[in-house]
Amino acid sequence: MIRRLAALAMRRPRHQTLIFHRVRNQPDPMSPSEPTTNWFRGLVQMLANDFELLSLSTAVQRAVEGRLSGRSVSITFDDGYADNQTVALPILAEFNAPATFFVASGFLDGGRMWNDTIIETIRRLPEGRYSIDGPTPVAFELSDWESRRTAAASTIIAWKHLPLADRQACVDQLAAKVAELPSDLMMSSNQLRALANTPGVTIGGHTRSHPILAKLDAAQARSEIENGKRDLEDLLQQELTLFAYPNGKQVVDFRLEHAELVRQAGFQAAVATDWGTLDANTDRFRIPRFTPWHRNLSRFSIDLARCHYGLLGV
Ligand SMILES: [Zn+2]
Repeated sequence: MIRRLAALAMRRPRHQTLIFHRVRNQPDPMSPSEPTTNWFRGLVQMLANDFELLSLSTAVQRAVEGRLSGRSVSITFDDGYADNQTVALPILAEFNAPATFFVASGFLDGGRMWNDTIIETIRRLPEGRYSIDGPTPVAFELSDWESRRTAAASTIIAWKHLPLADRQACVDQLAAKVAELPSDLMMSSNQLRALANTPGVTIGGHTRSHPILAKLDAAQARSEIENGKRDLEDLLQQELTLFAYPNGKQVVDFRLEHAELVRQAGFQAAVATDWGTLDANTDRFRIPRFTPWHRNLSRFSIDLARCHYGLLGV
C-alpha cells in the first residue's frame, strides 16, 4: 500500500516539507501527541525507504530549475529545542537524513518560549484552583494531567494575541507561582554549534524573539528578521540562506511585506506553516509545509502521498 501510494506520488513533481518542533525520549503527559523517539525513527525510516530525502535548499534549487522528481521530502524543525540536537539528530544520522533547523536566536543558552513557561508552570503547580488577572483573565482548577493539559491549552489561546508586553506580564504573573522552571529546553550555543557542524544539517533563521511579524511595525519586523540572522551567523560563522516565519500562517502571522523584508535581509527562501507542496510555481519566499500529525505511520504515509498528488493541503 505504502509503496503503491509512493509510486502514485511520483507522477507529479511536487516536494513536501515536513515541520517538527520536538522529539521526546519519553511521552510527555503535558504533550502526549508530540513525537517520541520510536515514532520518529519509524517515520524517518519510512521516508528514507519510500521517498527521496532532500535538504530544503536542494529542494528549492530543484524547484526553481524545474528539476523536482515528484517524490521528494524535506525535514525541518522550528524554534531551536535542545532535543533537536540530543534526540532527533542521532536518529536522522542513522538514516543519513538531511534536515533544516530554524532557530530563534534569543532563546539560546537558557531562554524559554512564553508558551513553554505556561506549560512548565502548570505542570508543576500543586492541585487547586488558580486565577490570573489582567487584560484577559484566566481561571482553572488543576488536578490530573488532563486538567493540566486543558488549563495550559486554554491559557495559551487566551494570551496568544495579547500585545507582547501584556502577554509577558501575564506569563510572569503565572510563572511566579512556582519556585523554579527549566532553563534547558532550548539549545545552548555549544549544542547549536555541534548541530550546525553535522553533515546534512542546515541552520535557518527564525527571528530573534519569535514575534508574530504581522503584529509589529515595519522597523521592528525588519530588526527581528535581521538580528536573528546576524546572531546565528556570528555564532556559527556561516551564512544563513533559509528563514521560517514565526507561527507562519500567511495573512494572520506574516504578509507579503514581511516576505520582502526576508528577501532584503539576504535570505534566499522562506517557509510558512500553511499546508501545501513546493513546485516550480511556488513563491520561494512563501513555501508551504506539512505537519505530520498521524501517530499511525501508515495513515501518515497515505496523507503524505495524497499531499504529493495534490489531494490534500494545497
Ligand atoms: Zn516557531
